Amino acid sequence: MDGLNDQNLFRPYAYIDGSWVAADSGEQIEVDNPANGEVIARVPLLGGAETERAIEAANAAFPEWRAKTAIERADILYRWYELMLEHKRDLGRIMTLEQGKPVAEAEGEIVYAASFMRWFAEEARRIYGDTIPGAKSNQRIMVLKQPVGVVGAITPWNFPSSMITRKAAAALAAGCTIVVKPAEQTPLSATALAALAERAGVPRGVFNVLPGNAKEIGQTLTQSTLVRKITFTGSTAVGRQLMSQAAENIQKVSLELGGNAPFIVFDDADLDAAVQGAMGAKFRNAGQTCICTNRFLVQSGVINAFCEKLAAAMNGDLVVGDGFEEGVNIGPLINEDAIDKVHDHVQDAIDKGAELMIGGHRHTLGGRFYQPTLINGADASMKVASEETFGPLAAVFPFESEEEALEMANDTQYGLAAYFYTRDISRIWRVGEGLEYGIVGINEGLVSNAAAPFGGMKASGLGREGSKYGLEEYMETKYLCMTL
Ligand code: ADP
Repeated sequence: MDGLNDQNLFRPYAYIDGSWVAADSGEQIEVDNPANGEVIARVPLLGGAETERAIEAANAAFPEWRAKTAIERADILYRWYELMLEHKRDLGRIMTLEQGKPVAEAEGEIVYAASFMRWFAEEARRIYGDTIPGAKSNQRIMVLKQPVGVVGAITPWNFPSSMITRKAAAALAAGCTIVVKPAEQTPLSATALAALAERAGVPRGVFNVLPGNAKEIGQTLTQSTLVRKITFTGSTAVGRQLMSQAAENIQKVSLELGGNAPFIVFDDADLDAAVQGAMGAKFRNAGQTCICTNRFLVQSGVINAFCEKLAAAMNGDLVVGDGFEEGVNIGPLINEDAIDKVHDHVQDAIDKGAELMIGGHRHTLGGRFYQPTLINGADASMKVASEETFGPLAAVFPFESEEEALEMANDTQYGLAAYFYTRDISRIWRVGEGLEYGIVGINEGLVSNAAAPFGGMKASGLGREGSKYGLEEYMETKYLCMTL
């Protein structure tokens, strides 16, 4: 790849047991640049046999890795963190090339991704157990935390680096080893991480990356009795399927799935702050994040003012284009299907009576670019009310009362992220407690942080990532009962 300071970070291979390998079949996946559709690399299309080898390697590496002291594991993770920051520019460029997000945003993701390495390096040393009073005076009860074992991770394309580190850093800190299947659209960010893992001193077999046939790899991971934990970020449909597959061997499961985030603006909100929060919560990654606002619920007294201010911000601030171009802050969508879905939601809303304020069409740049779009007067009958758009469509729904807003916000099978803006402290508590969501931004549109628990309720998933809770997901709790 042109323009990298360190060409060795561009690795169109799989990484198993410390070796860079091709597929047994010699088959490959074409990776393209979403900005122009050009093929940028071919990576191996791995299947079940290679996955089994990777699981065996991870299993073989497990005893030695878990036996390291917490501080030894922490030092390696910390070195990995430092290397990611050192190579932020290259990692960002690789990401923009395969994923499309603007380089500044891609570099931002690298910093965020690296922050999980740092966080879990620190947390590795705080894996505490408990002692509990025994049932008899000569009895003692002790609780130990131990790594679950080999982890199978499947990750999406929208955050090609941080969705891996959020899992791998926690798993490695806990003493687990891991087999990662990255999304077929973005394998190069994953293998670049593996290149740095090697330099950081992660022993062979501890971290493996397998681009390949999703279904086959997923089946092999869930059918293996050596894999003790499946962690997945992606669509609810695939999450549901993996969960049922994991039932066979009673594997532990963490799922971070789809969302349908409401962003509620009450009459008493600071509208300028709300618009600023809305821009981040809606348009980051061109609207392709699972915590992106899907529904703006705005109280009737401020709805017109909010729409005008949001329209002004969209017209003034959003620049669509190739992520490598200076000043661009909205890149292409990941593929044609994504464009079709956004357009379908826009068209459906207009057909059902919504008012189109901005955009509403494919961008004049063509390809996978879509105009940032604002519609007002959305209602529950429209697709955008119940399905995740995953693109740059801001749909505004009116409401009258706080009760109605909560009801609308919770009227979905999803429960990942929600946002609300108000200056009333009592309302902050009522609404904060009433929202059936795992993550709630209050007068805040950007909520991701390695120190905080990330995850959803209802069909948005199981378990939490990041924070001290994220480490728990990779550990078993063992109770020792001792008579003196
Ligand atoms: P998206 O629609 O965002 O691509 P997916 O859930 O389809 O979401 O993809 C997320 C990850 O799940 C990707 O790595 C993809 O390859 C993988 N995946 C897709 N289908 C399956 C499957 N049947 N079994 C295991 N993994 C799958």
